[in-house]
Amino acid sequence: MHLFQHKNGELYAENVPVKKLVQEFGTPLYIYSYNTLLRHFKAYDEAFDAFPHIICFALKANSNKAILNLFSRNGGGADVVSGGELFRALKAGIRPEKIVYAGVGKTEQEIKSALKSKILMFNVESEDELKEINRVAGEIKTKAPIALRINPDIDPETHPYISTGLKQHKFGIPIEDALEHYRLANSLKNIKVIGIHKHIGSQLTKISPFVDALKRILLLVEELTKQGINIDYLDIGGGLGITYRDETPPDPKQLAKNILPLLKGRKLTLIMEPGRSIAGNAGILVTKTLYLKKGQGKEFVIVDAGMNDLMRPSLYGAYHHIQPVVKSRRGKIVADVVGPICESGDFLAKDREITMIYKGEYLAVMSAGAYGFTMSSNYNSRPGIAEVMVKGREYSLIRKRGTYNDLIRGEILPEFM
Ligand SMILES: *Cc1c(COP(=O)(O)O)cnc(C)c1O
Repeated sequence: MHLFQHKNGELYAENVPVKKLVQEFGTPLYIYSYNTLLRHFKAYDEAFDAFPHIICFALKANSNKAILNLFSRNGGGADVVSGGELFRALKAGIRPEKIVYAGVGKTEQEIKSALKSKILMFNVESEDELKEINRVAGEIKTKAPIALRINPDIDPETHPYISTGLKQHKFGIPIEDALEHYRLANSLKNIKVIGIHKHIGSQLTKISPFVDALKRILLLVEELTKQGINIDYLDIGGGLGITYRDETPPDPKQLAKNILPLLKGRKLTLIMEPGRSIAGNAGILVTKTLYLKKGQGKEFVIVDAGMNDLMRPSLYGAYHHIQPVVKSRRGKIVADVVGPICESGDFLAKDREITMIYKGEYLAVMSAGAYGFTMSSNYNSRPGIAEVMVKGREYSLIRKRGTYNDLIRGEILPEFM
């Protein structure tokens, strides 16, 4: 459920007309619903109430400071995958002891700053990385708390680009090699083994891959305990899907119902890393229709938001529902909704049946709160777009629109020219 609904034919973000927001802040514009974000966050917190847990929101889904701060105020932590994300999480007030750090390519600098910040743990993805963390921790005379990211070889049955838990993927340590890696980790002087981690993919719409993967991980935890390696933190990653079109993904309650019985009686703290399922349907992208164009047997609705602002349709062929901000009784057309970028791959929707729309009118691209702004770029020298948060009748800009000067900041003319 989200709080972007039409009332008397006009789209509202909570209790604020979207039209009012675009008139004040311009387009393209990302709009987020505070109460939807909070509700989705609390759905996890309440579902897992009976078991010790930390909800580490995945910053790569949406890393705006205002949104992170909302979670941190409610006890949330962070899942980061770069030094930049760590910086953002700390700046937004997320406590370091609630931050986990994954990613296959952590640099020396990034490892050092994470150690100095005293994060909860590194989710380590290879033997080489483990040794590097051990070395860096030794250099600054500390012990690095770690979990190993285990690849359980379970098919999450999602889009190949967002599937991560199979043998052929670059992520994690193959489950067959896990024991050996844990023994090594345990023997390294500056490493403290505290956890185990898995994340098998994103936009999962079935519960069984979660359960199957967890069962494999728990067998491993038991084996580790036998060998004297204690696991305190069980990090099950993120990945719950959302409804973009007609998917019916499980919700946190169903996840808890299937997972908690497996954890009964175990002395563990559960970590979850949801991203999409919290932020996805809590945000929309609003765009203005610039032109209508009749091609050969095809109509194009040309809008002012492009693939640089919302990459998912171009990158994954992802579906986003698109609807007029102000409803009308006009007939339907079938059209490609395209942006101004000079690429044929620049589209928000293909062969989409939409209500006839005219120049100057607004369209709302739904379910754009996750992997929207964070994946955006300045391609074609388009300034970063503005973001607004709405709470009831209140609203606030949470990111200023970029300027042309922002585009050339840091560029240098060489002396030899
Ligand atoms: C992307 C990612 C997540 C978040 O995935 P969602 O599908 O957005 O919930 C969590 N953990 C890791 C390690 C990730 O890479």
